[in-house]
Amino acid sequence: MAQFNQELTDVILEKCQNLSLANQVSKTDGRFLADKSYGFDTMFFVTRYIQRFRFGNIYRRDNIARENEYIRDLFCLRPAAQVKNYFTEGLALLRFLNAVKKISNSEYEIIDEDILEIYSSSFENAYIFHYLLCYSIFKKHGLLKAYNNFCKAATLVDKQKAYDKYVILYDTQDVRIKNPNKLWSIFTPKYPMVILNYANRQNMVARTGKVSKLQVTRKDIALNVKGNRANLELPKKNSYLDDLSESYIIETLRPFLITEIEKYEEIKYTDEFSVDVADTKLDMFDARDNVIRRRKSQSNKYKYTNGVKTRTVQGEFRSGLLLKTPHICPVCGFSYRDFLIASHIKPYAKCEDTYDAMNPNNGLLMCPVCDKLFESANYITIEPSTGHVIHTDNIDSEKDFQYLHGKTIDYNYIDCERRHYLKWHYDYFMQKHSSYSN
Ligand SMILES: [Zn+2]
Repeated sequence: MAQFNQELTDVILEKCQNLSLANQVSKTDGRFLADKSYGFDTMFFVTRYIQRFRFGNIYRRDNIARENEYIRDLFCLRPAAQVKNYFTEGLALLRFLNAVKKISNSEYEIIDEDILEIYSSSFENAYIFHYLLCYSIFKKHGLLKAYNNFCKAATLVDKQKAYDKYVILYDTQDVRIKNPNKLWSIFTPKYPMVILNYANRQNMVARTGKVSKLQVTRKDIALNVKGNRANLELPKKNSYLDDLSESYIIETLRPFLITEIEKYEEIKYTDEFSVDVADTKLDMFDARDNVIRRRKSQSNKYKYTNGVKTRTVQGEFRSGLLLKTPHICPVCGFSYRDFLIASHIKPYAKCEDTYDAMNPNNGLLMCPVCDKLFESANYITIEPSTGHVIHTDNIDSEKDFQYLHGKTIDYNYIDCERRHYLKWHYDYFMQKHSSYSN
């Protein structure tokens, strides 16, 4: 029987066959996976960004603020978080892979399209690339046997022994790794080990080098696991990790697994949400720059397409609204559910981050007519502290809109966070219709 997705693994292995730890020039200048900040999710997001903002075959790091905003948003980090390393390290790995060449301090030439294409195509493929990269490096340096011993060891004590041996075996020019008294000696090879351990269902290895009795989970291999945004209830933007298709990963990697894993009879693949979250943020940058361009359509060369697209940013927004608010238009009382529209208060294109785009408090369920009136503050707005509906002069005498006169929306809609968005809408309305007089 032919191997599932063999084309993908063939391409990746070919890219990795000449790589060696000796290729590492310095810490930031072309580097193998040093730790979790080289996470497969980081690589997915960074390469997707590069694909959007590259200019021909050149990627210029001329907008560090935008790179940082992207990472902070998608990884749900505080505004002050230091995030410059995410791109620096992502690019360091791409250099190690000979996918990009640094041509000046801020310019990179893209020399291998396939690698960028694979890493940016899906979370699954990014992980699969990481796995085969670690597999190839271990093989190159004679470590697969040691790793095999680690997997085969039956007790925790034996696993620990096998791991300790592996650390010493780790062959590199890096003095921090050679010196077993430095924490780095253990820390550096940890992440590649964790990557291999996930698909092989092996135990977690802590930063200190201690083998845990717990099996590696998808949260251990991803960097974006703790969303935290001060004082706000955050829709979990890293919930795409739950969608990671294990059947697709395991069946693709089967010939390269060290342990025996039961066969999946069916490939369940639904991941699209991570792509949509990344692209939503990229679209916001474009909207801000007044650039209208279609989402870069990937060639689909490496994308598994049998999956069902189940979740999108707009879908999450709508289901959040259906969950949190009554199924009725707050302006006119229309309530036929199929016709209710998840209407953004602060329009999608004006949102600052994907939190705004997905936040049900930045929305109201409206009937098609009220949605049209409310959209982009074209005809109506809502006074944020009282809930009064305010309309433009030009529809004041229209008989179809008489119902708007003296209308007030239910006070329950004006909770703290929605009021913040309504205030934005109200100010926008006032600015847009400056001729409007109170
Ligand atoms: Zn309505």
